[in-house]
Amino acid sequence: MALIVKKFGGSSVATPVKIFNIVDRVLRERNADDKIVVVVSAMGDTTDDLVALAKQVTSKPYGREMDRLLSTGEQVTIALMAMAFQERGQKAISMTGAQAGINSSDTFGKGRILGVDPNRVFEALDDGNIVVVAGFQGITEDGDMATLGRGGSDTTAVALAGAMKADVCEIFTDVDGVYSTDPRVASGAFKLEEVTYGEMLEMARLGAGVMQPRAVEMGFRYNVPIHVRSTFNNNTGTIIREDYTVETNKRVITGVADDTNTAKVALVGVENKPGTAATVFKALAKNNVDVDMIVQSIRSKDDATTDLIFTVALDDVVLAREVLENLSNSIKIEKINIDEKMAKVSIIGAGMLGQPGVAAQMFDILGQEGINVEIISTSEISISCLVAEERVKDAVRVIHDKLLLDDRG
Ligand code: ADP
Ligand code: ASP
Ligand code: MG
Repeated sequence: MALIVKKFGGSSVATPVKIFNIVDRVLRERNADDKIVVVVSAMGDTTDDLVALAKQVTSKPYGREMDRLLSTGEQVTIALMAMAFQERGQKAISMTGAQAGINSSDTFGKGRILGVDPNRVFEALDDGNIVVVAGFQGITEDGDMATLGRGGSDTTAVALAGAMKADVCEIFTDVDGVYSTDPRVASGAFKLEEVTYGEMLEMARLGAGVMQPRAVEMGFRYNVPIHVRSTFNNNTGTIIREDYTVETNKRVITGVADDTNTAKVALVGVENKPGTAATVFKALAKNNVDVDMIVQSIRSKDDATTDLIFTVALDDVVLAREVLENLSNSIKIEKINIDEKMAKVSIIGAGMLGQPGVAAQMFDILGQEGINVEIISTSEISISCLVAEERVKDAVRVIHDKLLLDDRG
């Protein structure tokens, strides 16, 4: 007997026919005594459509009511999928995030799973059901719906798998696994057979949309092996696990990622005195605006002012601007410039540790391609460059081909 959590993304459940295809596959592939939990996303582009709908009504598309709206998408899918199982003669029950015991923080739109209480799921499985759970949503202490950030159904699935001590968590999607870069961007992208939690987390954090970063974090914390694979064929996908099993799978650079959900904020002419940066970033943090790349530059040594430049997610721009404008009443900021047409390109690889030449190679490739780098940031296993959004896909392709494909020979 195995306990398996299977997650199907939006394009996998986009139509009733696709839902039936999944139902038939699940029933065909399971062993008689397997216990199966299916986590699903909203059908097709439903979540995008709901966001667009909200924007027709409000200039502030975030907060409690927004999450109430967004969480409806997944609820349509769970009901339809449970009905489809029943049509095939299989006992099945749908559960919202709350019913499946997914407890979330009240940071609406960015809910963090605080705990999972899967008792009701276990009871339903013991009763012979396949349990179909709504991804992307949890319940706050006050009983409100909170969503877990875009792509959050991945996190629901891995968190449930962790809490239930499932044997494996399978993430079914519209590509064959995790690739060296987005296969829709670079035709030379190749599938990775295995990747470590650490590298996958960095790839996801830097924009590889195939997995939500929080999901990878959960997998790491609870040591859940994650198998990312295609909904539409039976090929083996990518296993995300603690370490490589095959020595040759260790490489200098594992992947290239890009993130277009990025805006550059420049606070021009900020008072140059101790505590200013703390005031700015504390105010943003208090409002749950994540800040990423940060550069502070003083124009000359004794300047009374400085420029503070950083990036935030495009989704947070409205909120960030509001927070910063309020702040300019209490500290001196000459001008707030926000450029939404920026993007980040990154290379990721644990093998880069102790290989100082890689950064220079990346800058060289971008330079030769005429792509200007505005901000650079690094972690132990990644290097990121902020570039114009209109050039970022070119950047991905050229870096991938020169650094990863040439390396493969
Ligand atoms: P789902 O709806 O199944 O959650 P997503 O659209 O969230 O699917 O994620 C799958 C998509 O992620 C792929 O279609 C692909 O374009 C994109 N993607 C980005 N980077 C990668 C990568 N390194 N490997 C595979 N897919 C990637
Ligand atoms: N439906 C949500 C989204 O589109 C969650 C998910 O698909 O994982 O972001
Ligand atoms: Mg996704």
